[in-house]
Amino acid sequence: MRVGLDIGATKVLGAVIGDGGTVVAQARQDTLPGPDGVLESVTTVLDLLAAGLDGALPPHIGIGIPGIVDRKRGTVSHAVNLGLGGDWFPLADRLADRSGASVIVENDLNAATWGAHVLSGADDLAYLALGTGLAAGLVLSGTLRRGAHGAAGEIGHVPVDPAGGLCSCGQRGCLELLASGSAVAAAWPATGAPSAEALFAAAADGNPQAIAARDRFAAGVADAVRMLGLAVDPAVIIIGGGVAHVGEPLLAAVTAALRAQAAPSPFLAALDLASRTTLLPGAAPVGAIGAALIGNAG
Ligand SMILES: [Zn+2]
Repeated sequence: MRVGLDIGATKVLGAVIGDGGTVVAQARQDTLPGPDGVLESVTTVLDLLAAGLDGALPPHIGIGIPGIVDRKRGTVSHAVNLGLGGDWFPLADRLADRSGASVIVENDLNAATWGAHVLSGADDLAYLALGTGLAAGLVLSGTLRRGAHGAAGEIGHVPVDPAGGLCSCGQRGCLELLASGSAVAAAWPATGAPSAEALFAAAADGNPQAIAARDRFAAGVADAVRMLGLAVDPAVIIIGGGVAHVGEPLLAAVTAALRAQAAPSPFLAALDLASRTTLLPGAAPVGAIGAALIGNAG
C-alpha cells in the first residue's frame, strides 16, 4: 500500500491506495497557502489517514501538485494558486523529515493521468483534464510522456481563434478560452451548483441560450479531442477534471460534436474519435491514486 496526496488550490485530498488502485482510506483538508501552509495541510491529512488505520501509514508517499516540479529533487515552484513562487520549495525533503516516509513529488496533471491509466487499464491514452483550464496528459505505450520541456499535452494554449480574447499565457484566442471550467463560468455564470452542472441542466430543460452555450463548449472540447487524436492517436481519450462531474450529458454532447466534425470528412470519420472518448468511472480520486502509484514511471 502507498499514500497518495492530490494538492489542489482549495483542498488536499489524501488516500491510502492498494496495488490495483483500490482506495483503502481517504481524507481531505482545506489547503493553506504558502510553503508552511501546504506542509501543514498535508501533515493534517496524513494524521487523519493514520488515525483511520490505527496510527500506521505505509512508508511511501506520492504527491501530485500544480506548478513546475523537479522530480529528482522533489521540489516545486511556480504553483501560483498555492502561494508558491519562483523559489524551489523542497517539499519531498520537508515532508520526509516530518513523516519518516520516502516521498515522491509529481506534477498534478501527470499524477492524474497515471491514475487514469491505472483505473482504465488502458496502456495508451490521453487524459483530457477539464478543470479551471484545459490540458492533457499522455501515457503512450505504457510510458508517461512529459515532454522535453514538461509541456507535452498543453493543448489549452493552442490558439484557435485569431480574433479571440487575450489569454493569460500572452497569446490570443487559445482553446482554453472556449473549452474549460473558466470558459463555462464566463458563458454561464451560476450561483449554487457549479457552472457546468447548471449549464447542462438548463440546456436539458430546453433553454435556447444554454443549449447554444453547451454546444459551443462541447465543440471546443471536441476540438481538443481531435487535436489529441491527430497529434498522437491514443487508443482512448479519457475526459476528467472538475467539469467531468457533469457525467454522461457531457460525454453525449462531446461525442455528438465529434460526429458532427467527422460527418464531412471520411478521413476523420475513419478515426472514429467519438467511440474512443470516455469518462472516468465514478468519483474515484484519480489524482491521489496516480500520485500513490506513479513511482518512477516514465
Ligand atoms: Zn493561452
